[in-house]
Amino acid sequence: MDRELTCVECPMGCAILVTIRDGEIVSIGGNNCARGKLYAQNEVFTPKRVVTSTVKLEGGGMLPVKTDRPVDKDKIFEVMAVINSLIVAAPVKVGEVVASDVCGANIISAKEVL
Ligand code: SF4
Repeated sequence: MDRELTCVECPMGCAILVTIRDGEIVSIGGNNCARGKLYAQNEVFTPKRVVTSTVKLEGGGMLPVKTDRPVDKDKIFEVMAVINSLIVAAPVKVGEVVASDVCGANIISAKEVL
């Protein structure tokens, strides 16, 4: 089985081809650097994503938030359930933790609201 991936580690977006035989990677090609190789290895076996969304602000409005690190792709619905349950009170700084230790990541504010 082969996997065609687009590396998201930098704006170059290299097309990477991963050849898999018997559940093991036998070759990785198309990446222009070691970061791309590591991305491909992780994407095949343990895909992760930074989750971005919005939460409700007390009194109205929405606050953009994201996880402070990538979380396992199969945990995204769990993370979103927590995000959807949050109501945050202003003031909030950029990078402020609005929920901690959610599937191994913190949910942080992506915007300052005074
Ligand atoms: S393989 Fe390297 S150069 Fe290519 S997109 Fe990924 S990080 Fe960028």
